[in-house]
This record gives sequence, C-alpha cells and structure tokens, in this order.
Amino acid sequence: MSMPPQPQGNPYASAPPQGNPYATPHAPYGQPQQQPHYCQHPHPAAGYGQPMAGVPQVPACRVCASYPAAEVTIRGHVGMLIMMRFQKWPGPYCRTCGTAMRREATTNTLWQGWWSPFSMVIFNPYTIISNLVVRGKLNKLPEPGPAPYGARPDPGKSVLQRPAAYVALLPILWFLFLIVRGG
Ligand SMILES: [Zn+2]
Repeated sequence: MSMPPQPQGNPYASAPPQGNPYATPHAPYGQPQQQPHYCQHPHPAAGYGQPMAGVPQVPACRVCASYPAAEVTIRGHVGMLIMMRFQKWPGPYCRTCGTAMRREATTNTLWQGWWSPFSMVIFNPYTIISNLVVRGKLNKLPEPGPAPYGARPDPGKSVLQRPAAYVALLPILWFLFLIVRGG
C-alpha cells in the first residue's frame, strides 16, 4: 500500500533536522555575533579611562606636569597707537611655573601695555588686575613636588624688583601732569 511512507515518518522525522543543515550555517554566523573575539580585546579607551576614574581629577601644571596646579589664565597686553594685542596663556599652572609666567607677563604688560588710549584706560588695568587675581590663586597652592620632567622656569624676581615694571610710572606721571597743569 501506499501507507508506509508516513510510518516512515521516522526517517522524515529525523530529516526535519533540516534545521541542522540550516543551523550549521547559522551557527558560524551566530558565534561571531557574540563577537567575544573583538570584545575580549581591551579597548584602549577603556584601559585609559579606568585608571583615570580612580585618580582624583586634579589639574596638572601644563609646563612641568606636577601637582597641584590651579586653573588660571595669565594675561598680557600690548597697546600701540593704532593697534592692540591681547595675549593670554591658559593654565593650569603649578605655583612655581605660574608665578614665573605671571611675573614675566605682568612686567611686560607694565611697560608695553599703556600706549594706546583704550589700553591705558581699560585694557591694561584689566590685564594687571586679572594677573593679580591669578597671583592670589597661585599663592594659595602649596609648593609643587619635584618636576616629573626636570624642567621648570625660574620664578625670578618679583615684578616690582624688575626695572621694566617702572615704565608704568611714565603714563601715570604724565596723567598726573595733565591734571595738575589743567588745574
Ligand atoms: Zn609647573
């Protein structure tokens, strides 16, 4: 009879394992989908990110890379008759490097910064006061540890011990002279 074929559902039943032949091609695709291969490699970003997370986020001096450092911006100003130049050197700086740069910038500003009307009235006073604020912040820092790279600028003499700073007296004297003469 033609009945037998179905009882032999066994061979067909085992055949439906059709899934197997299809499963085997899927398996290789399925495994890469897990992609443990790629993810097992440590991502560089994660590698660098994790230690950063454990370390307290303290800014390091941009000159000598030591701690502690303050997020300050040292400014300078050059006033000329028809043009002005605004300079700024953002930190962070440690106490030593920041003091060295601040003294240099302030001293230069004190003799270069007066020579245009707006500079004298607005920009140079602002620059000088801004650097005074920076001085206050830097002076609150403890002395930095040994410099990791061994190079650190010498803070040198204070601003008022530098002759160039006293060029600032000239425009002030001139201003006073105008007032006195006008009176
Ligand atoms: Zn430094």
